[in-house]
Amino acid sequence: MSHKNSNNLQDLQYFGEYGGVNPSISDASTYTFISAKTMFDTFEGNTEGCYLYSRHSSPSNLYLGEALAALEGTESANVTASGMGAITAVILQLCNAGDHIISSRTIYGGTYAFMKNFLIKFGIKTTFLDITDLDAVAAAITPNTKMIYCESVSNPLLEVADISALSCIAKKNELPLVVDNTFSPLTISPAKLGADIVIHSLTKFINGTSDCVAGVVCGTTEFCLSLKDVNNGAGMLLGSTLDSLRAASILKNMRTLHIRMKKHSENAQFLAEKFEKDGLRVVYPGLLTHSGHLIMKGQMNPEYGYGGLLTMDVGNLDNANALMELMQERKLGYLAVSLGFYKTLFSAPGSSTSSEIPLEEQEKMGLGNGLIRFSIGLDDDIQRTYLLMKKCLEDLNILSIKNIKP
Ligand SMILES: *Cc1c(COP(=O)(O)O)cnc(C)c1O
Repeated sequence: MSHKNSNNLQDLQYFGEYGGVNPSISDASTYTFISAKTMFDTFEGNTEGCYLYSRHSSPSNLYLGEALAALEGTESANVTASGMGAITAVILQLCNAGDHIISSRTIYGGTYAFMKNFLIKFGIKTTFLDITDLDAVAAAITPNTKMIYCESVSNPLLEVADISALSCIAKKNELPLVVDNTFSPLTISPAKLGADIVIHSLTKFINGTSDCVAGVVCGTTEFCLSLKDVNNGAGMLLGSTLDSLRAASILKNMRTLHIRMKKHSENAQFLAEKFEKDGLRVVYPGLLTHSGHLIMKGQMNPEYGYGGLLTMDVGNLDNANALMELMQERKLGYLAVSLGFYKTLFSAPGSSTSSEIPLEEQEKMGLGNGLIRFSIGLDDDIQRTYLLMKKCLEDLNILSIKNIKP
């Protein structure tokens, strides 16, 4: 069963206009019609295989969407100009003024800010809770609740959501379960575990080259078409459309995703185990000490490993900043947000990507200001990387903080 993902992807085959091995790129914003009647029918959404205008759909975006639907095992997928473009469209498609959302409290900072600050304009309220507390999730459901939202592996704390269990709660209450799977493509297949809608920021692992932003919504054909509806589709009307040239380039990068994910996971697992043995406060779902380890093990596609993200708490922000600067100086990676690059990327989420979350809430969820998030790269010799990283920790006297327990 776990091999199904890559097989589906491998079975996709397109020929370009001149028999090229890559599909042709549609370099056009608008499309001509021979008959005015066909144009009218296409506008009404009744003509299969006809293109009208590229905000609605374009061949390149459909190819990429098809590959992503195969990746997640959903009927269909719509690509968007960013991960936030996918997330905001899904939420505004599912919720009306006055509705209610149940969301994990450890989610991407932008998603958190959108739910907490922006949706208030429409009177849409969100209950943020510990998504691993299933009783709390069930108890938070009200007659106005329109969705349950979480990340399969959360940003930045790497909490693991029990997707099958959440899906049971969602189904019992006829609510859609929406899962952001950005941190764990291939490793976790949320739709196969019962999620109704799966979202990715393609900006991260799936594209993998840190050269663009993009996103996707994977779901039923009915839902994907509703997002594109010219009269009331949030995807169509909010206008977060991916450019065809980018869609084509992301599709080409996606073909190496399985190889990259295995290497990211292998390297992260190696470092997590070593640093844990050294007594450092490392969090990685592949460690036996991780609170979500068994849930992850039970729901993952094991050949892809536990993912490329790990966190290390070095006690305080000064330590974190010093370590990150030194690591960059010694060419071990970049002090940068984002993830899924060939080089290791590191940032202190408390002061960057999660700074939208108020300080007291950060503390409540265990997001200390000495926490560093690492997106481990594709380093060829990870033992050498480990020794170099350890040298940085030693030179900064950070190894000695290992005894300070939170
Ligand atoms: C980066 C990220 C997003 C937002 O995606 P963009 O492509 O930057 O809009 C959403 N969710 C998660 C988990 C992310 O890491």
